[in-house]
Amino acid sequence: MTHPLIVGNWKMHGDGAWLDRVAAIAGAVAVPQIDVALCVPATLIHRAATIAPGLTIGAQDCHWAATGAHTGAISAMMLREAGAQVMILGHSERRAAGDDDAHVAAKVAAAQNAGLRVILCVGESAAERDDGAATARVRAQLIASLPERLTAGLTIAYEPIWAIGRGVIPSPVEITSVVDGIRSVLTARNVANARVLYGGSVTAAATRDLLARTDIDGLLVGAASLKPATFSEIIGAAI
Ligand code: 13P
Repeated sequence: MTHPLIVGNWKMHGDGAWLDRVAAIAGAVAVPQIDVALCVPATLIHRAATIAPGLTIGAQDCHWAATGAHTGAISAMMLREAGAQVMILGHSERRAAGDDDAHVAAKVAAAQNAGLRVILCVGESAAERDDGAATARVRAQLIASLPERLTAGLTIAYEPIWAIGRGVIPSPVEITSVVDGIRSVLTARNVANARVLYGGSVTAAATRDLLARTDIDGLLVGAASLKPATFSEIIGAAI
């Protein structure tokens, strides 16, 4: 069995003073039974990877091109060179900012070509859930967000948009239906061994129950990853 994977997503939080937090998290994760990654703002990747070589540092987005006239953008290879080993892609906050499924698929291909392990996010809106369409929507989104060629090291994060930052977690039945749908797509694409994470309002209190499920291989943690004490509590509960 693979170890649980706990990923912190700092989103657009953190400046140089937060490197102390990176160091504190690196100290807390030096346990062999669990894989931890911390996805920090691009400006912190190099310094975080330098001060915490034992901690997997990740990015939160990239451009789909390897290089070119794309003012303000950063390529996957640039992020890898800065020290990123993993990359969150297709987060609903990036999709809301304009990334469609085709963009996401091109970014996944770019990140994999650069040698990064991808954490691809999918999730339905509250309206889609209310229509009873959560599983169908997430399956369709996943199918369209996967590039033609897939390499090893793919992870999918199921993050219902309505659970992000809201203090609510879907019921076990809701999670089962969508995660089964995700796994059927992964099997059809011959990447059945890809890990599936849950994300959305994860707390230390919820961690044990979520990871006790056999269909969830880890967690993608937003707000609760910002404070080392809270994130360490989640990691502790995951062991
Ligand atoms: P919260 O844990 O703050 O709900 O955020 C989840 C998320 O979007 C992680 O990518």
